[in-house]
Amino acid sequence: MDFNFTSEQESFRSEVRSFIAENLPVQTTDVSDEGMYDQNKFDERLQFQKAMATKKWNTMAWPKKFGGLEAPHWQQMLLNEEMAYNRAPSGGNHGINWVGPALMLVGSEEQQKEHLNKIANADDDSWWCTFYSEPGAGSDLAALQTRAIQDGDEFVVNGQKIWTSGAHRSNWGWLAARTDPDAPKHRGISMFLLDLETPGITIRPLINMGDEHGFNEVFFEDVRLPKKNLVGEQDRGWYHLAVALDFERSSIAGFSGSRKTVEDHIQFADDNPHKIEQNPDVRLEYADRMIEIEIGTNLAYRIVHMQTNGIIANYEASAAKLFSSELNQRIARTGSKMLGLESLMRPQEPRAPLGGAIGQSYITSVSSTIGGGTSEIQRNIVATRGLGLPRG
Ligand SMILES: Cc1cc2nc3c(=O)[nH]c(=O)nc-3n(C[C@H](O)[C@H](O)[C@H](O)COP(=O)(O)OP(=O)(O)OC[C@H]3O[C@@H](n4cnc5c(N)ncnc54)[C@H](O)[C@@H]3O)c2cc1C
Repeated sequence: MDFNFTSEQESFRSEVRSFIAENLPVQTTDVSDEGMYDQNKFDERLQFQKAMATKKWNTMAWPKKFGGLEAPHWQQMLLNEEMAYNRAPSGGNHGINWVGPALMLVGSEEQQKEHLNKIANADDDSWWCTFYSEPGAGSDLAALQTRAIQDGDEFVVNGQKIWTSGAHRSNWGWLAARTDPDAPKHRGISMFLLDLETPGITIRPLINMGDEHGFNEVFFEDVRLPKKNLVGEQDRGWYHLAVALDFERSSIAGFSGSRKTVEDHIQFADDNPHKIEQNPDVRLEYADRMIEIEIGTNLAYRIVHMQTNGIIANYEASAAKLFSSELNQRIARTGSKMLGLESLMRPQEPRAPLGGAIGQSYITSVSSTIGGGTSEIQRNIVATRGLGLPRG
């Protein structure tokens, strides 16, 4: 089997590399939250996405009429690989990855006109967050209790969301709320577009154990939403949400960033051989990590191959998400073993090896097996839909 890319694909890869080199002067070993925490980094990310937008690269797979290039899945994957490997700010965000694609499928013409080009262009007032999880609804998302009750031409929203990534940076929210409290739990949910300037919304920071402000808890008190912001059919939001979740999961896996991280660790070991002499078993762990990266890359390529052939990746996307998130935790553990006590130095500490990236990723990668659906939920999907095992 020949996995080489065509000369056309390789030349696109080179174009992406040159673009990143021109538009992202500072390369970093950072494992950051992509500017959710730091205002300067967020501004850098916005600048970079605007530069990407001039080439329509943020949304290259979108239809041309909505600001895309109708590029093939392989091209998107090559772009993602180069971005992750070169630690460019992610070309995606909630607007690009799932709000936009869901609006193309079920949004009204007015909603498409108002939002899709703005999302594609990375406009300043078009940054999106996702309001799904609540204190009593995460894996069992259909249990959500936030209500949107119709009152004439408006819906009145009351309730609470939690773990909302980037709400403090966003202008708009993709909201799941219960419109029929008496219906069975998968029915009676609707999807809305929520302008975060609307009165009655309170956003409070939640600081994670890496001391970063990535997510928030958000309270809604008599928030009045115009009816035109209802997406798709009223009370059928669960089905629209399921489509958006498919987009979310299939955009998750990425192994070239992990490859770069392991290469950085190996370079560090070469420069500091005493670290390996003190703990020779670490060499064997790095051999395992590199083999796992090859396996993960093949899982991701399989998904791209399926998408290219019009097949929806389902349990395959769960397998890749599971493998990628757990692999990043293993890489952080191996790195911490190599560094020993020095892995405890925080990124702010000038003597921290590799800018403190290893210790920071040890802490922050914990959440990767929770966000986007926990590992248990992904294993359930692989077991039932992939292997055909009965539900427990
Ligand atoms: C970094 C990060 C970013 C996030 N961003 C967002 C966001 O932007 N918007 C948003 O809405 N949410 C967001 N979330 C929330 C995320 O979607 C939920 O945390 C996740 O779905 C799990 O829900 P929960 O926290 O309520 O845990 P629970 O569902 O209560 O799960 C608790 C434990 O029980 C296990 N469990 C639950 N059900 C089953 C089952 N059926 N079988 C086996 N085990 C099970 C889980 O695996 C877990 O170990 C984010 C979370 C993280 C960590």
